[in-house]
Amino acid sequence: MSDEPVMRTQVGIVGAGPAGLVLAHLLHLRGIDAVVLESRDRDYLEHRVRAGVLEQATVNLLKEMGVSERLEREALVHHGLELRFGGRRHRIALDELTGGRTITIYGQQEVVKDLIAARANAGAPLLFEVEDVRLEGVDSARPVLRFRHHGEQRELRCEAIAGCDGFHGICRDAVPSDVLTVHERVYPYAWLGILAEVAPSSDELIYCQHERGFALHSLRSPQLTRLYLQCDPGDRIESWPDQRIWDELHTRFACDGWELHEGPIVERGITPMRSFVAGPMQHGRLYLAGDAVHIVPATGAKGLNLAVADVRVLAAGLVRWFDEDDRSLLDAYSETCLRRVWRTQYFSWWMTTMLHRAPDDRDRFQANLQRAQLDYVTSSPAAATSLAENYVGFEHDVSERIV
Ligand SMILES: Cc1cc2nc3c(=O)[nH]c(=O)nc-3n(C[C@H](O)[C@H](O)[C@H](O)COP(=O)(O)OP(=O)(O)OC[C@H]3O[C@@H](n4cnc5c(N)ncnc54)[C@H](O)[C@@H]3O)c2cc1C
Repeated sequence: MSDEPVMRTQVGIVGAGPAGLVLAHLLHLRGIDAVVLESRDRDYLEHRVRAGVLEQATVNLLKEMGVSERLEREALVHHGLELRFGGRRHRIALDELTGGRTITIYGQQEVVKDLIAARANAGAPLLFEVEDVRLEGVDSARPVLRFRHHGEQRELRCEAIAGCDGFHGICRDAVPSDVLTVHERVYPYAWLGILAEVAPSSDELIYCQHERGFALHSLRSPQLTRLYLQCDPGDRIESWPDQRIWDELHTRFACDGWELHEGPIVERGITPMRSFVAGPMQHGRLYLAGDAVHIVPATGAKGLNLAVADVRVLAAGLVRWFDEDDRSLLDAYSETCLRRVWRTQYFSWWMTTMLHRAPDDRDRFQANLQRAQLDYVTSSPAAATSLAENYVGFEHDVSERIV
């Protein structure tokens, strides 16, 4: 990319998270120019610990895109998950219930690392540490991104802009407020997440419902365990010293014949639980994708997968527009994506309410409903299949191969 203050590209992409990077690479593979603008530095992105469960369709796409070499070597494929409640263990056989579909454990930061490397190898523009990005003319045929880079004011003239800048980004605000409808639920609990340097205590994920609150045992590698505890959204991380975290995890996961391994905690944080959808996901020449337009509570492990599913549709629409001058897919972008978004919102909300302790449940009404549902899901093949097919995820919403 030139160092001229005024540059041109076909698609200006704001944000180098999973959505922006997958979109950029899909477009690159089809010969469409894009410039990615990212406010953080490369090292920060490559070490930002977040999601880690990849749906079958996400893995298939990364393979199709040719960025899965390390994933295929290092990732862990899971064929089932465990629901634990009342001190008992119940396995949901994901693959048997879904005709062989599985989930794959591979950290989001590893996906991001692979995609940044692919972009660098392609010599395609990805600018880190850009500042003060502003969108202009999204209603016109010549939208513009203005920003500062290395102290210089720059202008990027685009034919379309992809807002992939996450929940706290600026692109969503470029849609007029009388056009955008926002749906939001904030849950009365949060997740305290830790990364511990210790071998996982289970080969598969454990979703645990307990009267003291939800807990999740997950993993990132054979040496790294990821654990979560339901906590109060007002809690501060300082009020959770290591011993309190481990004590609480031991209490919630307790069951005969199973032991939780402890190890040094190398990452910790508290994440609020939120459901959020803004629509439409497009306005003029601006297309929003991923966390910029929707947030799901993490219980369903869907955030990253939903971001990838969005840009798969967006890339197909942009390719058809640039290659064939046909806008039909692009015009239907928001409508196509929102169907999956709301299905996923439902599943994430359902998993969340089934597994978390409701803080104001004085007569245990909610707790009894939860137990009834958990008994059903673990005894009825039909109910277990519904959980399994939603958890491994559905095929993407466009059928043509992108590559
Ligand atoms: C703390 C945390 C923990 C999570 N844990 C899980 C989990 O365990 N399981 C799960 O399934 N999901 C989890 N998620 C959700 C999942 O990580 C997201 O759904 C996923 O990152 C969405 O990808 P994205 O590309 O849409 O957005 P992001 O990954 O947020 O990427 C947006 C990018 O845009 C950049 N950006 C923002 N503003 C600007 C700007 N003005 N200019 C330029 N660049 C900008 C950001 O720096 C970022 O790199 C978690 C999210 C968070 C925040």
